[in-house]
Amino acid sequence: MTERTLAIIKPDAVARRLTGTIIQRIEEAQFQIRAMRRVELTRKQAEGFYAVHRERPFFASLTSFMSSGPAIVMVLESADAIKKWRMLMGATDPAKADAGTLRKEFAESIERNATHGSDAPDTAAYEIGYFFPGIDLV
Ligand code: ATP
Ligand code: MG
Repeated sequence: MTERTLAIIKPDAVARRLTGTIIQRIEEAQFQIRAMRRVELTRKQAEGFYAVHRERPFFASLTSFMSSGPAIVMVLESADAIKKWRMLMGATDPAKADAGTLRKEFAESIERNATHGSDAPDTAAYEIGYFFPGIDLV
């Protein structure tokens, strides 16, 4: 089933000039990039994006990091895109990520972990809508 997911190249990876490398890996994995944009999130926008995590102890630090510099937001499309993109990213904590995954190679820490991916169809729909109006995705 063709599916879409929201991917973010987070501020740590953009700052280290890994944007091109990560996009290359996305294309090599046969995703279609259906939409892409550079954003500089305000603190409020980062808080809105991560609203599901607002009770977590790392929420303040995470939203500060995510609003610390430019990020790249993308809509990726493929069969089983949500799971497939999470497999390519690897585990949240780079110390636990499998060899060959983006987070194993590029993450600095569990927080500064290079990329984001939606975790389910309902969160993917919310997250895609947060950044891209429907007209960009026709
Ligand atoms: P993402 O949602 O970014 O794709 P994920 O689904 O693997 O990552 P979540 O549990 O949704 O992980 O956490 C969201 C983000 O919060 C993580 O990607 C990471 O940047 C940060 N984070 C998660 N756990 C911790 C932690 N224990 N300490 C600090 N930051 C954390
Ligand atoms: Mg998540």
